[in-house]
Amino acid sequence: MSTTVYGVTPPISVANPSPKENELNDLLIKELKQKGSFESEAATRKRVEVLTLFQKLAEEFVYRVSLKKNMSEGMARDSGGKIFTFGSYRLGVYGPGSDIDTLVVVPKHVTRNDFFEVFVELLKGRPELEEMAPVPDAFVPIIKIEFNGISIDLIFARLDITKVPKDLSLDDKNLLRNIDEKDLRALNGTRVTDEILTLVPKPTVFKHALRCIKMWAQQRAIYANVYGFPGGVAWAMLVARICQLYPNAVSAVIVEKFFQIYAQWSWPQPVLLKQIEDGPLQVRVWNPRLYALDRSHRMPVITPAYPSMCATHNITASTQKIILEEFGRGIDIMNGINLGQKKWSDLFERHDFFYKYKFYLCIVAATNGSSEEHLKYSGMVESKLRLLVQKLEVVEGVELAHPYIKAFDDQYFCDSEAQRQEVLESYGTHRGDAVTKDILKVKDASAQTESFEVHLTKLFIGLKLDLSKSGERKLDIQYPCSEFFNICKSWADFDSKLHQIQIKNVKLHDLPDDVYIEGEARPVKTSKRKRSESKNENKKRPKSVGPVAAVVSG
Ligand code: ATP
Ligand code: MG
Repeated sequence: MSTTVYGVTPPISVANPSPKENELNDLLIKELKQKGSFESEAATRKRVEVLTLFQKLAEEFVYRVSLKKNMSEGMARDSGGKIFTFGSYRLGVYGPGSDIDTLVVVPKHVTRNDFFEVFVELLKGRPELEEMAPVPDAFVPIIKIEFNGISIDLIFARLDITKVPKDLSLDDKNLLRNIDEKDLRALNGTRVTDEILTLVPKPTVFKHALRCIKMWAQQRAIYANVYGFPGGVAWAMLVARICQLYPNAVSAVIVEKFFQIYAQWSWPQPVLLKQIEDGPLQVRVWNPRLYALDRSHRMPVITPAYPSMCATHNITASTQKIILEEFGRGIDIMNGINLGQKKWSDLFERHDFFYKYKFYLCIVAATNGSSEEHLKYSGMVESKLRLLVQKLEVVEGVELAHPYIKAFDDQYFCDSEAQRQEVLESYGTHRGDAVTKDILKVKDASAQTESFEVHLTKLFIGLKLDLSKSGERKLDIQYPCSEFFNICKSWADFDSKLHQIQIKNVKLHDLPDDVYIEGEARPVKTSKRKRSESKNENKKRPKSVGPVAAVVSG
């Protein structure tokens, strides 16, 4: 039995699992396996081999750069170089499709330029390399590769030390001295994941519970940091805190307590895995007493490694409501499971986002240009979506502005400017499906003229309206929409010839086909009889008319 106290309070219960809890836990692991959460041992062995090779490549990289900088052979060898991992691989919750998030740590004489030149050259020389995309000017500069069938994200950090030995650990916060912001950000992922793992009493219990919560959150469409939901690290910390409170429980019990505790949590009390630390840098540490911005966080989940940050600052009033509703649903299903009336698979039932609202907004970002240009533009629009959500949720008559956690992309070769306009105009609706049906997709075309190439991304926000209070017959969302257009158009690279942004009002039955996955039926239209009944109902209340479609092209 574990006796160490993990976390900022003593545990709630140190009870060992009952036979029934063990049984439920076995069923949970079985369900996770059946749903493909775990990958095969052979595939995992391959990851380990690839990482062993990458450790060698990192050393070779530092060695080559050191020689170029006139170091002696011996000094160059001693300079070292080490790789670390973070993300789902490091946390031990990766599945067959996961990438390996890898950090390359080097001594101070090796620069980020060297990483994008010398290391890139080294990679190019490897027969296992299938694809490579260096992104040196990203917020966290990155090299994305496909290597021997595995996706790997490589980031880089340069420390203010002369050697990086193989036994270097990143937990010493003095290593953060005299390094630039990009290096600090790059180190953060590994420092946070490493620390989470030291703060949970039983890592395997934590990992299985986290696999369950990740699968649940993905299926329920509440897993997406950019759109205002918790991301992977936040879900991991939320699970870790429950593990601290029930140090001897099995994963099935952790999951049950997870829903109960967070449904009742006194938000915005923060979820902490340990007391927030001070440190040697002039950087901000999360502190609601000092900073108004930190006080605005609705469901703060704080990273343990110095400098502590809030991993859930993106959560809005709407997404908080949705998350809390899902916790409530989790409690109900767990009760059902305990009574033998429900199964784990019920917990993982897919969301019904594209069935549940009468009105949706479809935000369309379009680029008349290459896919590289569109990637940057659509990424920017995606990252601003939650600002539109925040502006919508304060409009009178809007009860909920619910962002969907995935963007949908398409790309076409139109045969004329008129056709391109028609695509832009109808895209994001069921009518658009018919318009684009016979237009050539860019990926299928090899020798086309590029003049009418168009790349499109659509995002959805479900609207729950209550117009009875406002006394208005129509919802006016002109203001939030035009604010959102302004935000997008003030992007430094915005070019009105290339980029367009639109917001369309789409009714439930006019949603495009591709939002429904294979095997999912489109929502059924209510029968004539029912419709006339609901018409009568509408007479009593102010007629709820959909938001004014605000369509703007750049
Ligand atoms: P998967 O199994 O799908 O790979 P993951 O948890 O590893 O899941 P990744 O998308 O690979 O997720 O991201 C790995 C880590 O990189 C995250 O845990 C986070 O620390 C960091 N990260 C990724 N995207 C962002 C982002 N947009 N902002 C900040 N950090 C990010
Ligand atoms: Mg990953």
